[in-house]
Amino acid sequence: MSEKYKYLFGPVPSRRLGRSLGIDVTPFKRCSFDCVFCQLGCTTHLATERDEFVPFDEVCAELERWLAEEGAADVITFAGSGEPTLYSRLGELIDFIKARTDIPVIVLSNGTLLHRPDVRGETARADIVKVSLSAWDDESFKTINRPAPGLTFKELVAGERAFRTEFSGELWIEVFLMDDINADPKQVARIAALASEIHPDKIHLNTAVRPPAESSVHPVASEKLEALCGLFTPRAEVIASFATDAQSGGELNTENLIELIRRHPATAAQLAEMFGVKPGALLPLLNDARLQTEVRGEETYYICR
Ligand code: SF4
Repeated sequence: MSEKYKYLFGPVPSRRLGRSLGIDVTPFKRCSFDCVFCQLGCTTHLATERDEFVPFDEVCAELERWLAEEGAADVITFAGSGEPTLYSRLGELIDFIKARTDIPVIVLSNGTLLHRPDVRGETARADIVKVSLSAWDDESFKTINRPAPGLTFKELVAGERAFRTEFSGELWIEVFLMDDINADPKQVARIAALASEIHPDKIHLNTAVRPPAESSVHPVASEKLEALCGLFTPRAEVIASFATDAQSGGELNTENLIELIRRHPATAAQLAEMFGVKPGALLPLLNDARLQTEVRGEETYYICR
């Protein structure tokens, strides 16, 4: 897929969404946050300015081609190398998709631009929107999300609240929890109180099971995460995949492997399962100079930054 398309990836199977076709319209790695837990590594372009980073017509042409030649997915998800609401033609792109297919559209956003009415209007054209909320005040916001200059926690929460009042689709919140940073029950209770005021349809708890931007970030144990779910209304669900992900890597070749690892750091065993091969078959490809390894717990992850 990566050889055929520049802006589309997958579809990748996911336990919750089924087969998800990804669209990546922000260059690596442009984001309004530089989260300590980001699995893509540190943000190289920390900014809030929107732009047409990739040509709208080219993305539309790829989508047309994919719909004509393949066209089978359960969802189409805006995700990838940064914050998708920074793409200045996001609303037009969602309209383009919705005029051509009934496949539901999902936007995975950090929520930072939702204080802007124009961004809320564009994002609200999706069927499902997932936003982030992993802090409880300005200080924790700065420590965890390391936002672009000018962004405040108050504005983030106000934007997410305003979006809820205008958006008739499903709103999900993802809370990323890390040991010794924001996973103390008192801290989580403060996040939960803010989350409930936003009135999401679902709340997901995630943690650093894959190598994060900062090596000082540590995951919360699965049992502890489960115990924290009850602090949220509605009750949260744990989405961190502590076991092997059931993703599909497509045809095994170096470029597909690098592309998958760039978006999704993984162990050799996980990669072998994704590509449906024995781990030994991957070893020559894993020697590629673009790859590094990082040990998390007892596992060695391959990363590409
Ligand atoms: S986790 Fe998401 S919001 Fe945070 S820096 Fe990475 S891409 Fe940006």
